[in-house]
Amino acid sequence: MVLADLGARLNGALSQFSKASSVDDAAIDALLKELCSALLESDVNVKLVSQLRARVKAKVKKSLEDAEKAGGREANKKNVVQKAVYDELVALVDPGTEPYKPVKGKVNVIMAVGIQGAGKTTTCTKLAVHYQRRGLRSCLVCADTFRAGAFDQLKQNATKAKIPFYGSYTETDPVAIAALGVEKFRKERFDVIIVDTSGRHKQESELFEEMVAIGAAVKPDMTVMVLDASIGQAAEGQSRAFKDSSDFGAIIVTKLDGHAKGGGAISAVAATKTPIIFLGTGEHLNDLEKFAPQPFVSKLLGMGDIQGLMEHMQDMAMANPDRQKDLAKKLEQGKFSIRDWREQLSNIMSMGSLSKIASMIPGMPAGMMEGGEDEAAGKLKRMIFITDAMRQDELDSDGLIFFSFDKEGNPVGLNRRARRVAKGSGTSVREVEELLAQARMMAGMARQAGGQNGWMTAMNKMQ
Ligand code: GDP
Repeated sequence: MVLADLGARLNGALSQFSKASSVDDAAIDALLKELCSALLESDVNVKLVSQLRARVKAKVKKSLEDAEKAGGREANKKNVVQKAVYDELVALVDPGTEPYKPVKGKVNVIMAVGIQGAGKTTTCTKLAVHYQRRGLRSCLVCADTFRAGAFDQLKQNATKAKIPFYGSYTETDPVAIAALGVEKFRKERFDVIIVDTSGRHKQESELFEEMVAIGAAVKPDMTVMVLDASIGQAAEGQSRAFKDSSDFGAIIVTKLDGHAKGGGAISAVAATKTPIIFLGTGEHLNDLEKFAPQPFVSKLLGMGDIQGLMEHMQDMAMANPDRQKDLAKKLEQGKFSIRDWREQLSNIMSMGSLSKIASMIPGMPAGMMEGGEDEAAGKLKRMIFITDAMRQDELDSDGLIFFSFDKEGNPVGLNRRARRVAKGSGTSVREVEELLAQARMMAGMARQAGGQNGWMTAMNKMQ
């Protein structure tokens, strides 16, 4: 089951549960049964699944007892169950350790290891592009002399992405190449030097020996293991085998775009307490997503990932500084209107890979994460239509203009303006409400970030 399907099933189980008329043992059991079978189908280890089930049950039991004492209502009980499920799903993919973070102004050497075909060479370039976009001067060293064509592949990728690279057609000693390349780029004061190593040898022990030798020569600040998601829960054994010989600090799980066992691979890696830093979600250089347990689960359940979205906006700002300058200024002042949200939506639409970005917006169906380009584009277009039907003063507002208020100033519902916009845009009042909620959330994030040291600084800290 691909991740989007897993998300849709988990989501379906939770919404079924939220419709249950009473929260009794039967409703909770039905929910847990569906959740567990979805996780097992995604190749999550049986032990981890039964652990999750037991923990959710224990948490719910305790919280419900506490709530009952305080005279809790059904709605609260539902929240208790949903929160316990969310927290335990996060725990399932949370290794509980922090990875190394490259910092600007220092030379950060990253060495990539993993078996052949895992996606190492592709991922090295994706990583370089990622750091480069965040203002860290990045470069690549090809120390894979084992696989014919490895240097050509890296060269091709690096050239396409405009990343400086180092390699050799004549030198056959990978340790010498790695040392020379890193030395050269160190002298040139690059911020991030990524070393791609070989993935296959006649014997595994030879591969491990080579990794250790390259490591000793380049002294990496972080060794990253690249691991193919299609091996599912076998990821645990593979990462332990590598860990025994080379002490890597982080893992990147690749090929999560099309594989049935993604959930298994991620949870297996988390169980080894090694931080997962990125997920590879396609063959394109942009198909690298930062991994963090909570946003990952939120996105999986269709709850969006506002922080991820802000980071994308930052990437766009880097790529197109003039257009985004005004926005950055507004955000720094903590201002964010519906017009700004509209501009971001049109930027998103021009960025490509819509389904991935769309899944970061709260309330977007989880199914869009996978192959739903048309659906995602359609949904984004409807959101733009909604803003098209708004008047100037409405666009420049923070959205409160669309609500009616009671005497105490609390919003009690949408007003005639909202109904006019829904009608004028051929959408529903519910969709208008969703768009307003999204704009409000973005404004909230902007205020938080802007309130500190300015938006850009705050974004840079999120690397
Ligand atoms: P290496 O042998 O570990 O260096 O692996 P490569 O980087 O050559 O990748 C092997 C194949 O996997 C290539 O065809 C890549 O395009 C593909 N690949 C790498 N990462 C991903 C990913 O995240 N998703 C998909 N679908 N393919 C990937």
